[in-house]
Amino acid sequence: MRRVYLDHAATTPVDPRVLKKMLPCFSECFANPESQHSFGRAAADAADAARDTIAKAIGAKSSEIYFTSGGTESCNWALRGYMRANAERGRHFIVSAAEHPAVLETAKDLEREGFSCSVAGVDAFGRTDVSALRGLIREDTVLVAVMAANNETGTVQPVKQIAALAHACGAAFFTDVVQAAGVLPVDVNEWGADMLAFSSHKFYGPKGAGVLFVRTGTRLGRFVAGGHQERGLRGGTTNVAGVAGMAEALALAVEEREENALRVKAVRDRFLDRVLKEIPRVTLNGHPAERLPGNANLCFHGVGAEQLLAALDLKGIAASAGSACTSGSPEPSHVLLAMGLSAEDAKSSLRFTFGKDNTAEDADYAADTLKTLVGRLRDYAGEKE
Ligand code: PLP
Repeated sequence: MRRVYLDHAATTPVDPRVLKKMLPCFSECFANPESQHSFGRAAADAADAARDTIAKAIGAKSSEIYFTSGGTESCNWALRGYMRANAERGRHFIVSAAEHPAVLETAKDLEREGFSCSVAGVDAFGRTDVSALRGLIREDTVLVAVMAANNETGTVQPVKQIAALAHACGAAFFTDVVQAAGVLPVDVNEWGADMLAFSSHKFYGPKGAGVLFVRTGTRLGRFVAGGHQERGLRGGTTNVAGVAGMAEALALAVEEREENALRVKAVRDRFLDRVLKEIPRVTLNGHPAERLPGNANLCFHGVGAEQLLAALDLKGIAASAGSACTSGSPEPSHVLLAMGLSAEDAKSSLRFTFGKDNTAEDADYAADTLKTLVGRLRDYAGEKE
């Protein structure tokens, strides 16, 4: 049976060139970078080189790059670390309704701690409503957090405009670029980011490695108490293999970005064109143009996403439902609900995310399979098309 992976927004395989870069970090370069001997210095050099490469890739200084365990930790640190360290200036912050749970759940925790959070709505395409966001800004607003591109719909946010708005009101701007890093041209200065988070495993690097960029002069509290790693703000022995792999993966993604984006978009568009033309009652969720090149989020009206996902899996196709499935009871996606979809349509939506190794044949196989399965599931449901 053909196997087609269309879940690259969940994670990507490690690029063989990245693995090659990582392997010596498990053998020759295995030491603790804090150790005061030549073995330790070799490991420290590898970690420093990774920091320099990552800084260069996003237009930052090396001293502004903090290593973490991934996107979730970086988002947690940015919000908790910033709000706590700046509490005497103000206790209010703003997030967008379409943020990842790494941001939304952290926001809830901070509210329980006594901070106050406002949620900026999104339009029918999932774009943050900038004028509504402006209306939420208060005297005591110290932080605005809006992601660069959404993980479910791929909708790209007007981050530069939001950053400028935050700064004009004296607030800092944090952006989660987990889905955008290596796909869009991320530049911390052009984008006006004071803090920015990303995760290695989304751009063909290893899992368990991420970055929080923190602009010089930004007040941020310590996140992990321990040794003096990451300038004393995040203790713990550096994951040298992880950061070396992440740096290599990001450098490759940046270098090959345009070529990959064009190829991925062509395959995604072939799939989309066929599905939208050949299967009745299917609609595209998210922005038609301002979206990541690999993302196709589709609503198959009248079909349960969980059933379709399971049927696709039996045919070797990996996709994802935008909903969080907790103990067999799928909740409709908060992102799709925020865009105005009904709970029923949200529960009929699936995300297909293409990667650099997907082919036109993969797109055709997925479209053909969907055509059969959607027809069959609708028939079972007693619906005649
Ligand atoms: N933010 C976004 C937009 C994501 O898509 C993800 C992961 O899917 C995360 C944060 C969390 O990243 P990680 O898996 O590295 O913890």
